[in-house]
Amino acid sequence: MQLNRIETPVVIIGAGPAGAATSIYLSKQNIRHVIIDKDVFPRDKVCGDACGGKTTAVIHHANPEWVTEMRQRSNVFQPSWGMTVVAPNGKRLDIPYSAKMPESAEAKGFIVPRMDLDNFLFEKLPSPYCTIFQGARVERMSNDADGVTVTIKHNGATYEIKAKVIVGADGDKSIVRKHFLSGITTAKTEAIGLRAYYEGITEMHPHSFIELHYFKEIPEGYFWIFPLPDGRANVGIGMLSATVREKKVNLREVMLKAIKTNPRIAHRFKNARLLDKIQGWGVPVYTKDRPISGNNFILCGDSALMVDPFSGEGIGNAMFSGMLAANAIKKAVDAKDYSEGFFKKEYETEFYKELGAELKHNGKLQRVFRYQWVFNMVFNKAYKSITLKRLIICMFTDISLQKQISKPSFYLKVLFNR
Ligand SMILES: Cc1cc2nc3c(=O)[nH]c(=O)nc-3n(C[C@H](O)[C@H](O)[C@H](O)COP(=O)(O)OP(=O)(O)OC[C@H]3O[C@@H](n4cnc5c(N)ncnc54)[C@H](O)[C@@H]3O)c2cc1C
Repeated sequence: MQLNRIETPVVIIGAGPAGAATSIYLSKQNIRHVIIDKDVFPRDKVCGDACGGKTTAVIHHANPEWVTEMRQRSNVFQPSWGMTVVAPNGKRLDIPYSAKMPESAEAKGFIVPRMDLDNFLFEKLPSPYCTIFQGARVERMSNDADGVTVTIKHNGATYEIKAKVIVGADGDKSIVRKHFLSGITTAKTEAIGLRAYYEGITEMHPHSFIELHYFKEIPEGYFWIFPLPDGRANVGIGMLSATVREKKVNLREVMLKAIKTNPRIAHRFKNARLLDKIQGWGVPVYTKDRPISGNNFILCGDSALMVDPFSGEGIGNAMFSGMLAANAIKKAVDAKDYSEGFFKKEYETEFYKELGAELKHNGKLQRVFRYQWVFNMVFNKAYKSITLKRLIICMFTDISLQKQISKPSFYLKVLFNR
């Protein structure tokens, strides 16, 4: 059988948010690359579908007109102005993403089924610098001092692609991570989530706030309701994998039981209809700084295990890391240096400088709020003190204030009304 040979500076495995952002930003910098996905777009991805300001910012930075397009297609991209957090004791806080409310501000966040978001991004890839293979299977991967070789099968033909650098944007079960970091990689994701699409849930927030509900029946996890256009919603549950294993939790049963019987939400689902199968997937949350690059490779998004441990936001981090990867690769191409040291300085250090503090603080927050009594106490006190309520609202959106909430002294002050 004929072997087709391609030489390119960059090969990207995976065309989800991380791979698409890498490709878009490489094209902007006139860098030739090949992008490969095993699926054919549009394709689904199990997710809560909620995008925060980081996603909007990365898309806007690539091309402001794309954000205008998203805003015009509000039948697909549901604008969202904030989030509602409900503590295990039922106390709720509405947390707007911006001090300005809908009447005067564009929505910072949106909710969009991944089938649509990922296809929207995929459609932005074609450029003179980008060669796309979708529905392609990676057969082999090898590396030597000269770079990386990837052999793929596509439409019955075999291609051997030689590149100076490979970007692993192939999700939580990344074959790129396995190939380059097999000794130090983790096989199991830290958390697991289920997603279901419903229609007809009542009492949705008038400004389409996403809802995070903490119930005592869901230890170390939460239940979500994220509004979508046309009266639909993405509903799901997420929990630490260790808890699911240790307590032998059947997530599907817990979720359906909450929908049927939990007094806080059951009445809202009275006339609601499940639209699709309930599906689950691993959530590779950030736990510590780890190597995410090396000689001739860079990892982005879920492949680099960088989902926010508190909010569960992974799309924004995936796209942000793709943008940083493209910037580092541009420098590498100019310097003709694809070494571990170069990518550590230009990618890894940059990534942890930009997002490391946020990921670490949200990790601490997640650990603190595992203790539901702490959660209840903070929300109880917030109900009694306008100042504390405002502080907590700001803490969810302001990284400098998030530092306070992850300090034990903060909880002592709350406990003793200081
Ligand atoms: C239940 C659940 C709920 C979530 N909710 C949210 C949420 O509300 N908001 C949020 O921001 N994040 C959420 N996340 C996290 C979010 O889904 C991920 O962080 C995000 O998809 C990461 O993007 P990615 O591009 O790195 O990986 P992916 O989106 O997984 O894309 C990887 C791509 O690589 C391709 N691929 C995989 N293997 C290969 C291979 N061998 N060869 C070629 N191609 C390959 C896949 O087909 C896919 O297109 C949730 C996750 C789960 C599981």
